[in-house]
Amino acid sequence: FNALHPTAAGKQFKISYEFFPPKTAEMEKQLWESVKRLEALDPHFVSVTYGAGGSTRERTHAIVARIARETRMNPAAHLTCVSSSAAEIDEILHGYWEAGVRHIVALRGDPPTGVGAKFEPNPKGYASSCELVRGIRRLHDFEISVSTYPEGHPESSSVEQDLDALQVKIDAGATRAITQFFFDNDIYFRFLDKARARGVKIPIVPGIMPIRNFRQVASFAQKAGASVPRWVAERFEGLDDDPETRALVAATTAVEQVMGLARAGVDEFHFYTNNRADMVFAICHLLGVRPVREKAPA
Ligand code: FAD
Repeated sequence: FNALHPTAAGKQFKISYEFFPPKTAEMEKQLWESVKRLEALDPHFVSVTYGAGGSTRERTHAIVARIARETRMNPAAHLTCVSSSAAEIDEILHGYWEAGVRHIVALRGDPPTGVGAKFEPNPKGYASSCELVRGIRRLHDFEISVSTYPEGHPESSSVEQDLDALQVKIDAGATRAITQFFFDNDIYFRFLDKARARGVKIPIVPGIMPIRNFRQVASFAQKAGASVPRWVAERFEGLDDDPETRALVAATTAVEQVMGLARAGVDEFHFYTNNRADMVFAICHLLGVRPVREKAPA
């Protein structure tokens, strides 16, 4: 097994990408350029997030439906149940099914008042992510991915509790878990070992976050309960006004992380792209994932 060329061992990697609904016309252009560029790498699926409290309901739908219509990729729509009634959620799900979408990333979501505030279920809604998964299963034959938290969700008292929560979502019908981002691979390996020891068999796909903007990622990590090791912080010291070096350091850090996981046998990766293709494309290239050429007509 060659550390720099994992494909030398004949490995096939399953790659997926996450995008978010852009707010401006300029960001929209960047999104579609990135989607097109990453489509060439023939990802397993691409997912589109759902703004807090359903704030991007229409935009998420429009992007997911366009990916289904205009690309060769399988789109997955994120969906949270936090501020909607079950009837509203079911209507959204019917809309996706009619648009040819067959994969939902099912989440509870955060309270409208923000991360850490007490979650109050909508009285007419799905009360938890596991109820949402059950509701989706009942409605249509969607593929269902869910989240999982190798360092524990901010609301959970222990990683064991997160593993219990994951098991409940699997029992309800989830077939893939995507992790919150992490930077220390040992955290992921420990979590994976515990999950496998409990008999969890579904893929637990590591979520990889290239650190484009250290301050932003560090602040997000703090809210999300993900740790930022000191050595990662030190790598970005003094680079606040130096975006070029920052981008190189970010790419190197993400490549090291992904290669470390690949060396240990991980063969699926979910990239938080921040709607940018360049870094993720380079990481995939180093993994040996290359553009798929269209077959020439006979
Ligand atoms: P859940 O499975 O509902 O719960 C996560 C953990 O919290 C559980 O494992 C458990 O330990 C603990 N917990 C939950 N409820 C309780 C309880 N009642 N008592 C004690 N502990 C409890 N948010 C969005 O708004 N839009 C998105 O598109 C989006 N995409 C995401 C994608 C991924 C891969 C991840 C990891 C997160 C995403 N989130 C998104 C964030 C997510 O909505 C929040 O983290 C939310 O707080 C939890 O929802 P969940 O479905 O991830 O977790």
